Amino acid sequence: MRRNEEVTSLYIHIPFCLDICSYCSFLHCFYVEKLASSYMAKLVEELDNLNIKYLKTIYIGGGTPSCLPIYLIEPLLKKLEAIKKDEDYEFSVECNFDSIDSSKLELYSRYGVNRLSFGVESFDEFILKDMHRHHDELKVRETIALARSLGFANINVDLIYGYPKQDMNVLKSDVTKILSLDVEHISTYALSIEDRSELFAKKVEETDEDSLRTMFDYIYESLTKHGYVRYETSNFSKPHFASKHNLVYWRNLSYYGIGAGAASYVNECRYQNTENISKYLKGITCEEKKEKISDEDKLFYKFMLGLRLKEGLSIKDIYEDVSETTKEKYEKVINHYLNTKLLIKEGNTIMTTYEGSLLLDLILKDLL
Ligand code: SF4
Repeated sequence: MRRNEEVTSLYIHIPFCLDICSYCSFLHCFYVEKLASSYMAKLVEELDNLNIKYLKTIYIGGGTPSCLPIYLIEPLLKKLEAIKKDEDYEFSVECNFDSIDSSKLELYSRYGVNRLSFGVESFDEFILKDMHRHHDELKVRETIALARSLGFANINVDLIYGYPKQDMNVLKSDVTKILSLDVEHISTYALSIEDRSELFAKKVEETDEDSLRTMFDYIYESLTKHGYVRYETSNFSKPHFASKHNLVYWRNLSYYGIGAGAASYVNECRYQNTENISKYLKGITCEEKKEKISDEDKLFYKFMLGLRLKEGLSIKDIYEDVSETTKEKYEKVINHYLNTKLLIKEGNTIMTTYEGSLLLDLILKDLL
């Protein structure tokens, strides 16, 4: 089972949403009070079973955690409060504007939540309506001001690009407005149309690669000009505000995940809870899928995750556990991309160039 290694990060999945976004392929379902009540009881049970003593990062994501009424989320927050935290701990909750208010924000703050993540996505009225997102610019500004007034000093907003009809003019306006929020962290997402989504069912076409590239170049230039650091392929932060929780994933460190569909990585095994909420409610909280990571796979994961980071990947002793053939293959691919300037090397660390970061899939395909 998942317990002998010290794991200091915890992800908690809340699958409920008040409406379903047109592009969504995450594990979600409509919020129904009775169902949510049973789910939260199981979640607390799963947390108790892990018997966690100490945490550095907690991330409550979804779904839409903020759609839970106070009486349903408070027992979970109470349990989390009782766990000893690192001095520099990070505790994030994902919020949507249509379900957050001052009483919930006060509750989060009381229980030690110190980072909020809001799904802004766009400010364009037509696009938000098409997405089934029920906020507008005023609501965004008012909510973020409210969070600030309650002491939240670390706020992330999500920005989508490449949504149908989100041309360069719309994107430029979205970026300007996002910048004016002056938040600590901005996550960007190129829209991809996944098969579980409404856009897929409607046969909407994805924005072409060249346009996505132009859009991302614009986002990158604007955000970096305003002091944000692109510390990960799609994530920008003000200095010292990189997401500590997400860095755990990208640095290939261990974490627990609880709730339906949540993944864990412990003792070099990847686990995934059942995505089936009815099964989860019947107590099948333990891992449905378990995968022991081979040394070869571990190496690939390190590259796949580490090359996403601006800090890059230390290759000192990285080939220790793999065969000479694997090592030679990796070195050949890396040398090729060093020569073609998609990768750079500083001491024992390799990292992508800007161009390389946008062509990371190509590099990874060659490493496979
Ligand atoms: S994108 Fe987020 S808020 Fe929208 S339906 Fe999916 S999980 Fe819910």
